[in-house]
Amino acid sequence: MENKFGDILTKYHHPNTPEGIRKVKEIFLHNKHDIIESMKKHPCYNGNYQIVQKVEFDRDVSRSAVMCFIDQFIDDINVDKVLLKKTTPSGKTFKQCRDEAIQNLPKMVKADDLTKLQKIDTDFDMFDGNGIYKPSISNRNKFIRTINMFRGYTEPTMSQEFINEFGNLFEGINVVAGMKTSKALWRIVMQYGFDEKVVQPKFTPYGDLINPLRRKLTYVISVNPIDYLFMSNGNTWSSCHTINKTNGGSGYHGAYCGGTFSYMLDSTSIVTYTIAEDETEHPELCKKIYRNMMHWDNDGILLQGRVYPQAKDGALDLYAKLRHLMQKAVCEMKGIEYINTHRGNDTWIKPSNSHRINFVVSKGNHYRDYNNFSDCNWTKIRGHNDPTGNYMIIGYNPVCPCCGEELESNSHEFIACGRCRIRTSL
Ligand SMILES: [Zn+2]
Repeated sequence: MENKFGDILTKYHHPNTPEGIRKVKEIFLHNKHDIIESMKKHPCYNGNYQIVQKVEFDRDVSRSAVMCFIDQFIDDINVDKVLLKKTTPSGKTFKQCRDEAIQNLPKMVKADDLTKLQKIDTDFDMFDGNGIYKPSISNRNKFIRTINMFRGYTEPTMSQEFINEFGNLFEGINVVAGMKTSKALWRIVMQYGFDEKVVQPKFTPYGDLINPLRRKLTYVISVNPIDYLFMSNGNTWSSCHTINKTNGGSGYHGAYCGGTFSYMLDSTSIVTYTIAEDETEHPELCKKIYRNMMHWDNDGILLQGRVYPQAKDGALDLYAKLRHLMQKAVCEMKGIEYINTHRGNDTWIKPSNSHRINFVVSKGNHYRDYNNFSDCNWTKIRGHNDPTGNYMIIGYNPVCPCCGEELESNSHEFIACGRCRIRTSL
């Protein structure tokens, strides 16, 4: 560890010495001992303080995106123009029907032919005040009702329950359970007589929305010291914990770079992140796609920090995805069966007050995102007591990698102590 770790600190102008780093390593190994022992029990432990797994990230279907699409689609395809008719099916207009009625009325009355009279009256009555053939209005309304059913449906295939909800709206349209949802909607639209060439381009985005994407990534759970140094080394992002203080243009200048040591040296903080699928050799040197600090009591309480770089990727709930991955790994380390059904009989419980984090004592120079972002949360293994009081300690006093001294305090903008910074800049 010493060389590589020191080289990285030197590269980013943080004073250090082999003795200083040895002291840091001692504290690290002591405090992270229990977590490292747990990690070793995981089948994907790589011997380098990391658990490395291939995972698939489903991009969930976004309900709001689907709703927006349907609303926009209805606007885009000129429903009224296509479906509202100004003639009867035989081609007669309102005026023709009216004239016919007027013309034939005396004859009908004279003949006392009530059947015919009713017929003429009915045709005449079939138009509204705007000359629109009334059955076409109900046809249009039925179409809109049918299409709107899809606003709230986010499954990639049609379920029988969903089809049942339609009642008779589907009459005459070949839509069956198991059919792709996008195919079903397309069939409906075509059944109503829309022009395929006009509608197709407006319809295409729906297929992408309703069919979830699968993305393969490498997922890493790490207490590798370099992962703390590079915890904010993102592929498109950076954060205040970056150790690169000359981070041009990104807006982050490592104001909390001291926080990397704070997390590294405590006994609860774990770096979890995803990187590209093929990067498994030295994950700690790869650009992180998502990073999420986890704070674990090495038992049944897990505190989830803020997800970087963003909370939501479309509708993908990164917090849930990353939390579930970590929860599963904890179960594997502890030899507990992992059940995640979302039906309430799960291994892990997310209590209703899980966003209230009032059981943490914070030390050291890291940014307390768990106190500042409401997306952070805690969960527990079923049967575990709720954390109370000063249940969990997050962070550790600054330790200077140059002189090896543990400090009462140090500016969170620096890693080395003030004395060493002055001495080495002379
Ligand atoms: Zn020092």
